[in-house]
Amino acid sequence: MSADADVVVAGGGPAGLQFAREIGARSEYDVTVLEANDALSDNDKSTGGTFEQVIDRYGIPDDVVMAENEDVVFEAPGASSTLDIHGYVLDFPAFLEFLGEDAEARGAEVRTGARVQAPIREGGRVVGVEYTTGGERRELRADLVVDATGPRAVLAKQLGMFDPASAQHGVGKEYEVEGRYDLDSMLFRFDHDAAPGGYAWTFPAGENSFKAGICSIDDFYEAHAPADDGTIDDYVEDWLAADPRWEVESIRTAHAGDAVSNNSINQRATDGLVAVGDAVSSINPLFGEGIRPGMESAEMAATVALAALDRGDTSRERLAVYEDRWNSEKGVDWRLQRIVCELLYDFTSDQQRRFVTSAGRLSDTQVDRLQRYELTLRDYLELYPFDPSDLSKARALVRHV
Ligand SMILES: Cc1cc2nc3c(=O)[nH]c(=O)nc-3n(C[C@H](O)[C@H](O)[C@H](O)COP(=O)(O)OP(=O)(O)OC[C@H]3O[C@@H](n4cnc5c(N)ncnc54)[C@H](O)[C@@H]3O)c2cc1C
Repeated sequence: MSADADVVVAGGGPAGLQFAREIGARSEYDVTVLEANDALSDNDKSTGGTFEQVIDRYGIPDDVVMAENEDVVFEAPGASSTLDIHGYVLDFPAFLEFLGEDAEARGAEVRTGARVQAPIREGGRVVGVEYTTGGERRELRADLVVDATGPRAVLAKQLGMFDPASAQHGVGKEYEVEGRYDLDSMLFRFDHDAAPGGYAWTFPAGENSFKAGICSIDDFYEAHAPADDGTIDDYVEDWLAADPRWEVESIRTAHAGDAVSNNSINQRATDGLVAVGDAVSSINPLFGEGIRPGMESAEMAATVALAALDRGDTSRERLAVYEDRWNSEKGVDWRLQRIVCELLYDFTSDQQRRFVTSAGRLSDTQVDRLQRYELTLRDYLELYPFDPSDLSKARALVRHV
């Protein structure tokens, strides 16, 4: 094979940078990351809530962790349950800068201000990318291309690997706040008044600061928002004003972004290319946690990519080992959780209350499975607050089967 680089990664978010770190740490292959923003830290959309699987496995240093939380609280109108799940809240821009610096220390080159436009295809395989930088159009050829451009899926969409029409779309908006926060918890509130068709959250963010936001899934937002609806900022501001457990002194910054969740069992590889992270809908469809699965998908893809590069064969046949592994280890669970998500965010208030109450009755082992997204069918049945109106949703759910 002959190319400008062994590997080119489009997108410098958690998934693309972790891919570069993996290749750098485990081989001599050269990796170039092309990131559209002028700085990695400009990708400032995420609350950065994460868990020990990320901190421990990917060596995330304390100085990019803003706070740790003792537990997770689920709330709904008339119910509250505390789950023994310890977590971490990252300073997301600082986390990305750390990943980028660490990837460079392991030999990768990170080029910011480099917007990938299209795959270069020859003889039916991807052999590089076209990108623009400083107003100029350039090409970079590589033995392996990685799409890590997040929900935009810049390459995967053009290659027909991702069908936006089958995807569920959600939006989130969050304020980072200076002020009093009395909880030691990540709080999730399922309540259509606070967040129609989604949930509201507050996370600790260090001394005298916290993060508060709301997210909604488009389909269920339409079903549950009142006719005289406000903007997403109105909802965040109402949520900030709603509760005596916190008090705002000033708003430090606002974060916003979207999440796209397709059917979870996806095409992740083609000749010369793999897709990781949100570019191929690795985000967990139930709670919108995307950092952990994005980095896990990058690690899994890098393992398969290294074996393919070693053989000098980055054909789909070789790379599809990653696709098969992800789809069997995660895809099936993700698809089930997509179905649960369709029900959860469409619950009546009474179902939200019963769901939260049932979550409080889970055993420690079940809570551990919930944290790992490995709930069994029996766990789901214990959690599920059946309502006769659910029968009318059967047709909408069948499309996921
Ligand atoms: C409001 C909000 C709150 C969230 N909170 C959490 C949370 O608390 N915990 C959690 O785990 N997840 C959370 N998520 C989800 C999480 O942030 C994402 O799932 C995660 O960032 C996905 O990582 P990624 O690397 O796949 O994609 P991204 O983080 O989207 O990174 C993609 C990168 O590609 C770049 N890019 C895009 N197009 C191009 C192009 N053409 N050329 C070059 N570069 C390009 C982008 O600029 C970006 O830097 C949240 C999301 C939102 C919107």
